[in-house]
Amino acid sequence: MREGVEARKWLARRQLEWRLRRKAMKIKRDAFLYYDSTLPQFAQCGTCWLFNARQNRCAVIPGIMVEASDSCGYYAQGAFNLSRDITYPKFKPEEVGFVKRKVRCENCDHYSEPKCMLFEMLNTTFPRYFDLDINVRPRGCCNAQVPK
Ligand code: SF4
Ligand code: SF4
Repeated sequence: MREGVEARKWLARRQLEWRLRRKAMKIKRDAFLYYDSTLPQFAQCGTCWLFNARQNRCAVIPGIMVEASDSCGYYAQGAFNLSRDITYPKFKPEEVGFVKRKVRCENCDHYSEPKCMLFEMLNTTFPRYFDLDINVRPRGCCNAQVPK
């Protein structure tokens, strides 16, 4: 009898631990690499630290011509200043989601000011898995961006 009570307590504790662990592991917005900004040309190559505007080249995607109006998922805002002391990784365009179009939430089909409808849908449809901050800015961007 006593063993049965102890076993139930043990099981309840394990279930609680499991639920807490799963809650802590919900997918957050950082999984989509959402990057906030107010910069007009944000997330386009022209404002990326890896864009060589003189040669129309990207430091990490060799072999293709790149324009200021292009973009990819490896973007980081900053001024181009290639260092000889750094060995830059190399990618194929498809490995980093290279695109020739305007990005940012303001150009995204999922955007409905001030929120991301994709994030809202994922939270609502899969609440066990997603806990995404749905408030985004027009000039923010993430790797799930799609054209309107
Ligand atoms: S292709 Fe990507 S990494 Fe290269 S300059 Fe453009 S945004 Fe930056
Ligand atoms: S609106 Fe588009 S770009 Fe903005 S966070 Fe949502 S999916 Fe990403």
